[in-house]
Amino acid sequence: EVKKNGKNGYRYYSEDLDKLLTERFELERELGEAIGRRELLVYYQPLIRVEDRHMVSVEALVRWNHPTKGLLLPETFIPIAEETGLIQEIGTWVLREACRQMVQWHKRGGPLIPVSVNLSAHQFQQADLVHNIEDLLAETGLEARYLELEITESMMMDPTACLDNLHGLSRLGVRISLDDYGMGYSSLHDLKIFPIHKLKIDRSFISDMTVSDMDKAIVSTIISMAYHLKLDVVAEGIETKDQLDSLAYNLCKGIQAQGYYFSRPLSARQVEKEFFVPLRF
Ligand code: C2E
Ligand code: MG
Ligand code: MG
Ligand code: MG
Repeated sequence: EVKKNGKNGYRYYSEDLDKLLTERFELERELGEAIGRRELLVYYQPLIRVEDRHMVSVEALVRWNHPTKGLLLPETFIPIAEETGLIQEIGTWVLREACRQMVQWHKRGGPLIPVSVNLSAHQFQQADLVHNIEDLLAETGLEARYLELEITESMMMDPTACLDNLHGLSRLGVRISLDDYGMGYSSLHDLKIFPIHKLKIDRSFISDMTVSDMDKAIVSTIISMAYHLKLDVVAEGIETKDQLDSLAYNLCKGIQAQGYYFSRPLSARQVEKEFFVPLRF
């Protein structure tokens, strides 16, 4: 059968696969050294209060400034980090860096704003997660209420492990945000039993809101549900004025938005330049 497909066909396939595996192995090795080489960066994307267009917080988003490939997005290396276990080290580094930056901005005369950091499932299952976060806060001097952790619905599937961590974090005063809300399998019952503070409406609903009544209705429903449950709510991925206008923000005072329409994720320096009142910077 191999013959039927032609010798060349087989060989090309195997060479491609070989190349892919080598590249992947190479990236894995380099990722292991990236922290030590200071190649990882944290970018920050502003969250904007829709009412008055003020930046109320930022989301920390990791980047890898690869020596030859340039600035890599998380989708190219977070999955590798998760498979190899490197995510623990990278996750801790991102958390520390984000907390440190908030304190730093404040010390230098900037605003004191909360930062939200994405947790991967591995980090979230760590038995000593609460302890580690507590240590990081003490080390960096950031008050717990200025740290928010973003988890996804799928991470709540194992309620026993999950509840302990969520309650522990809540007790510290850290806030919990449900990322990409609406795409997963969480139930309304989950919203009732888990200590969740914020819903971030997934970008897919926002992007179709202006062309689909269905998506618009879903977004309005989540906003009004969040309001009644006294949860903060964020519309993710606002790219256009039309999308912003069709947000039913009259339903919920204090609704926040995040997206390219306001700002792309920026380096810490760029945030200072574009979003801080030019006082001491
Ligand atoms: P996420 O947490 O849902 O983050 C939002 C993503 O949407 C970011 O992509 C952001 O750049 C992008 N985004 C924001 N506004 C817009 C918009 O208006 N239009 C479009 N098309 N995209 C927008 P990014 O930075 O590539 O991150 C992708 C995902 O990688 C994140 O999704 C998060 O799940 C994960 N991630 C990022 N940083 C970390 C990290 O430090 N740790 C872990 N475990 N995961 C991370
Ligand atoms: Mg997020
Ligand atoms: Mg998200
Ligand atoms: Mg997302």
